[in-house]
Amino acid sequence: MHPRRPTEIFGLFAATTVLPGVGPKLAMTLEKRIGTHVIDVLRHLPVGIVDRRARPALDDVVDGRIATFDILVVKHDKPPPGTRRPWRVMCENETGKLDIIFFHARDDYVSRMLPAGERRIVSGRVELRTAGGQKARPQMAHPDHIVRPEAADEMPTIEPVYPLTAGLSPKALRRAIEGALQRIPNIREWIPDALIQKQGWPDFATAMDKVHNPVSEADLSPAAPARARLAYDELLANQLALTLVRRAASESMPGRNFAGDGRLTAALAKSLPFSLTGAQVRAIDEIRQNQQAPRRMLRMLQGDVGSGKTLVALLAMLHANEAGAQAALLAPTEVLARQHHATINKFLTPLGIEAKLLLGQGRSGSAVRKQIIAGLADGSAQMVVGTHALLSDNVGFADLGLAVVDEQHRFGVRQRILLGQKGEGVDVIVMTATPIPRSLAMTAYGDLDHSRLDEKPAGRLPIDTRAMPLDRLGDVVTRLGRAIAGGKRAYWICPLVEESEKLDVAAAEERAAALARALPDVRVALAHGKMKSDERDAAMNRFRDGSAQLLVATTVVEVGVDVPEASVMIIEHAERFGLAQLHQLRGRVGRGKDASSCLLLFSAPLSGTAAERLEVMRETNDGFVIAERDLELRGPGEFLGQRQSGMPEFTLANLDAHRDLLALARDQAAAMVDADGAPHDRGLADLLLSLFERDSAVRFLASG
Ligand code: ADP
Ligand code: MG
Repeated sequence: MHPRRPTEIFGLFAATTVLPGVGPKLAMTLEKRIGTHVIDVLRHLPVGIVDRRARPALDDVVDGRIATFDILVVKHDKPPPGTRRPWRVMCENETGKLDIIFFHARDDYVSRMLPAGERRIVSGRVELRTAGGQKARPQMAHPDHIVRPEAADEMPTIEPVYPLTAGLSPKALRRAIEGALQRIPNIREWIPDALIQKQGWPDFATAMDKVHNPVSEADLSPAAPARARLAYDELLANQLALTLVRRAASESMPGRNFAGDGRLTAALAKSLPFSLTGAQVRAIDEIRQNQQAPRRMLRMLQGDVGSGKTLVALLAMLHANEAGAQAALLAPTEVLARQHHATINKFLTPLGIEAKLLLGQGRSGSAVRKQIIAGLADGSAQMVVGTHALLSDNVGFADLGLAVVDEQHRFGVRQRILLGQKGEGVDVIVMTATPIPRSLAMTAYGDLDHSRLDEKPAGRLPIDTRAMPLDRLGDVVTRLGRAIAGGKRAYWICPLVEESEKLDVAAAEERAAALARALPDVRVALAHGKMKSDERDAAMNRFRDGSAQLLVATTVVEVGVDVPEASVMIIEHAERFGLAQLHQLRGRVGRGKDASSCLLLFSAPLSGTAAERLEVMRETNDGFVIAERDLELRGPGEFLGQRQSGMPEFTLANLDAHRDLLALARDQAAAMVDADGAPHDRGLADLLLSLFERDSAVRFLASG
């Protein structure tokens, strides 16, 4: 236990720069992987331990083990300047000899740390080196710890190991975590006493101390009481948020009843050259019922690429219009906003209605912009499509009734909420192309409403999917050239290089250049994440209008790009992509009249699961089936942990190991909320949500 704990809870929500050793630079590194606040650092749990208790005799050490020795420094063998030889320090004790070596040692560092003739305690990994037929001699490169004998206590005997990130040393992270632990105040208990007793759980502060100071492998197990308690806390916060969202939607955000007369929706339905799928009819029905009920709608519209979500959204928007309210569709990028705008207006032409398009300042002419903003404010503009520009303060609506958010994994939750706040009791539909397996929907959204478009429009041609080893690249390029000569348009997706966008880009540039050389008659466009957005848009537009026939890209095209004329998809190093991503990418083709194909290029040999993933891709084109198979292959913990999936992420809980706790958390969450939807204790609810529901979509909705 730490002796001094501030009582201020706010200490946990301070920026990481308040922690010892954390300056602006380290804070940026932390932000990438761990987060921006003290509590985020605390939620970063160790994944292993280093045990330094072994103190073997030097003539008896085991190669590769971590060990600690009390040694006398005998002499230094310092390399002459300019050589690449390491600096060797010869040491010994009564049990044998030890060489400590340093590569690229800074000038006086080694002699200061290990002065000849003095005793030191050193700990680190020992290796046995045999040179020239001599007896193996123990050596230790760059000890983890070097301390004076009188300071032996300062050396940790058991150290936690954290998942690390480039630029973050274990020492710096540990220092920050210790500082964070010091800042945990005495907080009142939120778990009922009976449950605490029954489970044998420590309180929150003790649990944090324990998880960050494991003393055995057992302490790292999800079943360890401290870990289980924090997992429960996180699940409780998640279930509480879901309960609040749900109740808020039905009880405390009442009032609007958007009942249209069917005049616009019927006219649109009549003008369509096709009939709606059963799933579309169902979704529209569910949405309409919500719109007409005197409560706020918060509905997830899930459906595979091409399942016809946009049309469903449009019908909902028209329904709001019929009821006299405005409707807005928010897209994550400018490309997608333009695309939605064009699609929607094509549908609307027979009705004589036009949706407006609002982009950021400088992106559409300022006079036009002004006019649109005025139209939204006075209500003469009934329907608008836009980017986050729609959220800026100078955009106000006369009477916004429905906000549709095309999520495609890009949108911050904050933005969704801002849009929801642009009017009284605005209905919100979030469209997502990530199908969530049924078995997980409950965990992901609680009983939040969701509609599934699990049926493809009729007449879609299946996409012919094949896998092929990369060493057949030559053939692939030849055939690609022929296909393009025959009038096809193709995507070539370049691999993700772990952790480095720079390398992705280099790979894509290189591939584009090589393809341009190999296929001199083909016009190649290149799009990647490091390009300026207008450059990238220009490349995509060239591909869209056919002035380029081949688009080489990184996964930037994953996000909803719609070029119906493109019918060939080649994915390089397909084994490096997850199933959800492969499916998203493949969904870029098969959108037009032409039969489409998808080629998964892999580098052999494939691991077992990689082979299975590619097999699943060849077997089916149904996103819901793929999501289920993905879940089977990876297990719920991993599935949920996937950042792109749009699912809430648990950092403390593991749905495999803590499944039982989920039910307990649901019960407690339900008991924490009044019949009228308000938490019994607002302060406590806010505290739980801010501690544990940090990134989740539902948190902001719940506290809205
Ligand atoms: P999503 O947004 O779900 O990816 P879209 O709404 O973009 O799918 O629909 C893909 C294409 O299918 C569009 O060109 C759309 O006009 C068309 N479409 C939508 N519903 C149907 C349907 N019931 N029958 C035939 N085509 C449809
Ligand atoms: Mg769409």
